[in-house]
Amino acid sequence: MTRVDVAGHSVSTEHYIGGRRVGSAQTFEDRSPIDGTLLAEVSRGDAATADQALAAATEAFPAWAALGPEGRAAHLHRLAELIDANVDRIAEVECLDMAMLERSLKARVIGRGARNFRAYADLSVAYAERVWESNGTVNRVLRRPSGPAVVITPWNAPFMLSTWKTAPALAAGCTVVLKPAEWSPLSCSMLFDLVDEAGFPPGVFNLVQGIGEEVGPALTADPRVRRLSFTGSTDTARIIGRAAADGIVPFTAELGGKNPLVVFADADLDLAAQKAALQYDDAGQVCLSGTRLLVEESVRDAFLERFHARVDAHVLGDPRDEATTISPLIHADHLARVSGFVERARAAGDEIVRGGRQPVIGGLWYEPTLVYPASNESEIVQHEVFGPVLTLQTFATEDEAIALANSTRYGLSGIVFTGSAERAERVGRAIRAGTVWVNCFLVRDLTAPFGGVGWSGIGREGGDYALDFYADLETLQILDGSVS
Ligand code: NAD
Repeated sequence: MTRVDVAGHSVSTEHYIGGRRVGSAQTFEDRSPIDGTLLAEVSRGDAATADQALAAATEAFPAWAALGPEGRAAHLHRLAELIDANVDRIAEVECLDMAMLERSLKARVIGRGARNFRAYADLSVAYAERVWESNGTVNRVLRRPSGPAVVITPWNAPFMLSTWKTAPALAAGCTVVLKPAEWSPLSCSMLFDLVDEAGFPPGVFNLVQGIGEEVGPALTADPRVRRLSFTGSTDTARIIGRAAADGIVPFTAELGGKNPLVVFADADLDLAAQKAALQYDDAGQVCLSGTRLLVEESVRDAFLERFHARVDAHVLGDPRDEATTISPLIHADHLARVSGFVERARAAGDEIVRGGRQPVIGGLWYEPTLVYPASNESEIVQHEVFGPVLTLQTFATEDEAIALANSTRYGLSGIVFTGSAERAERVGRAIRAGTVWVNCFLVRDLTAPFGGVGWSGIGREGGDYALDFYADLETLQILDGSVS
């Protein structure tokens, strides 16, 4: 068994298959975005690894499904307790691995993993079969676990996002093979030490590490897979979606966003500016970030004055430091992608108002950047950058604001600032996005549906919506009076 020391904690670099750690002969390098330090040589899964994991998940499935919601919930609750007891360790490793701010990881992000397992354990136990009479029959909806699920997750907030998807799958009675992203694989590996400690039956919950393009096709095209659940980029979703189509396998995808943050003249401008400046947190590597600032013309200057003051207060630095608010980007390739967007915008005539370059400290940091696009068709307005880059456009009327908000192919979230209840209702309903927040941001109720419209995704997770996805809903219909 191969383990390395990361931030003073022992982390396995191997897969977890059939209830034990399994290595691969090939490995890939995992470096810290903070200073490029080599953190681990991680097992590089291949088609044989995928086969082994799917065999384990397939073998474990009947007993896990038969255990029923209460039996499964007991395992999920045990895992949640272990996560709570290990928040700091996981946060310290994830901070080195992904460079998310350590204090956010410790205060809320990792603990959300425990909340995910608890919430789905409780929801699955509380589920009541729908029963009704019609046409002289009793109808009953059965929620039957669907089989092994493959869950593929991205590099941002890797621990939290993987638990968000695997918790409902396990609670619903699926067995799971999780494939985390290769740029931040370590906190998910720590999860499987806890899965082991919680005593999950072997094969119920498996981890395969590796490069997406290498191990992904074997995981997604296998006929044993009954559900495919993906969070990541729109481009990768297209590839996995094709595998889902070939196998006629239900597929859910939580994808990127180009989310509007709309500020009306009747809004609390201090609050709006504070939340707008927060969109640079975690270097803007947050799918839900409001990256398109849409501001009512009459308050543009008043908003910008407050916004710039807030952005001036940002501190680029080591994500382990209390004072830091902007961490480095995940990888040199990603930095090149982000700066490529800004350079193309500059060349195309968009105005770079602030930032637009790497700071003098070097490394993988990028300055918080604001762009006034030359047109709504500018690439930087229409495509997800996934970095600390915002655009600002103005509008004169509510209709214009709504039209701009809905003018991209994405629809993950919308953020609206207004003091009017009627406008909150009107605009909140008019914006086409999976989640619209009014006068707040990132407040989540785990029972609410979550997902995207258009290029932002397919299907809904959250609450019963996720439990339904991981089940086959079947109707049982019995003729009245025909049985006693
Ligand atoms: P990505 O699509 O590059 O990779 C995501 C995962 O897919 C990784 O585990 C990767 O290894 C795997 N993968 C890559 N190619 C594959 C293939 N051919 N077959 C199977 N798996 C493959 O995305 P990323 O860069 O890791 O993540 C950033 C993206 O994720 C952004 O677009 C962001 O908006 C989005 N995201 C969305 C949400 C949401 O909830 N909607 C949350 C977080 C991130």
